[in-house]
Amino acid sequence: MSKHTYGNNLGFQTRAVHTGNDVDQETGAIRRPITMANSYELPYDPSDMNWSSAGEKPLYTRNGGANQNYLQERLQSLENGEDCVVLASGVAALSGLFFALLKSGDHIIFSNITYIAVYRLLHELLPEKYGIETTIVDTSDIQQVQAAIRPNTKLIHIETPGNPTTQISDIAAIAQLAHQNGVLLSVDNTFASPYNQRPLELGADLTVESLTKYINGHGDAMGGAVIGSRDLISRIRADSMVNLGGAISPFNAWLIMRGSSTLPLRMREHNNNALAVAHYLEGEAGVRFVAYPGLESHKGHKVAKNQMPGGFGGVLSFGLQADHDTHNRFVAALKIITSAVSLGHDESLIVFLGENDERQYLYPEEFHGGFFRLSVGIEDAEDLIQDLRQALAQVGL
Ligand SMILES: *Cc1c(COP(=O)(O)O)cnc(C)c1O
Repeated sequence: MSKHTYGNNLGFQTRAVHTGNDVDQETGAIRRPITMANSYELPYDPSDMNWSSAGEKPLYTRNGGANQNYLQERLQSLENGEDCVVLASGVAALSGLFFALLKSGDHIIFSNITYIAVYRLLHELLPEKYGIETTIVDTSDIQQVQAAIRPNTKLIHIETPGNPTTQISDIAAIAQLAHQNGVLLSVDNTFASPYNQRPLELGADLTVESLTKYINGHGDAMGGAVIGSRDLISRIRADSMVNLGGAISPFNAWLIMRGSSTLPLRMREHNNNALAVAHYLEGEAGVRFVAYPGLESHKGHKVAKNQMPGGFGGVLSFGLQADHDTHNRFVAALKIITSAVSLGHDESLIVFLGENDERQYLYPEEFHGGFFRLSVGIEDAEDLIQDLRQALAQVGL
């Protein structure tokens, strides 16, 4: 038995290091190599091959390749699913999922708080161009989800914690409601990562990850994944790779594989640092509000505590007791924390989301004055807190 076929009976950390890696049969190298070839040797009689699907054995890198397969093995194990497809970005994974599972006349319910591309895809693109009906719902309220279900509802898509407000939705409760109504549930797990939360174990049908964030963790490669049952993933794989062409580069799959080995160690630091920073900010008079699922003041804290056994993640949002420009001056005064989008990198990143965000009407009241999304990195927490403290002082708060 090769190492990578070890099952889920091993611990999460052991699987993060070993699953999907093996001794290279040709060279004896203890790390599997990067296979950049576009094409793989065909069998003796290729005429009965199914060209429109991705088979077990790689054929063409857009249908599947060696490095993609290794990464899929690892992620399928870490998310505790039957199968996984890895793609070029988180958005490629999301659009592949929607494209594969929905058709015109279908109805989809999705969270009021989601990644911007999900909002655009589900609120504008799919309804306008493909006749798919969508309803935006505050999915932190199970009653609202229930009330939105229609006979033609096919999918509920939630993000928890939600980007950028860290809103929490109850995965197990929504999964139960979805299944009572013959509806599928997909969960964007990017903010939590499988170390902190595993939606499939809570009853979700599919989990989506932007690998660009915590799973790679080093801010140097983009990727996305969907994990779930064999049947659903084979449908998503066929459409998203073979027909939409969202294949990830083998090199990026290799980089993400390398980054993912330390996911458990990094997540523990992110969790601890973010909690320390959130507590610090909560005690500052110049801070208007702090939203972090690990704080008891967070509306979704109780649910988060139940469904995020590993920790509450590294992202928090907060606003200052100040005007628009003071928020920008605060960011300019930071010395360690970098102003940039993305999250889940080793380094801390901050982004100011101003009042003209097109989705502001979907956010709770306190977010309306403009706010920051802070991705707390794995630096020393004391240094991050000191950086925030000196920047607050510089803007007179
Ligand atoms: C970043 C992000 C995405 C998109 O991922 P990309 O890899 O940037 O395409 C999707 N969902 C969430 C929650 C994200 O934070």
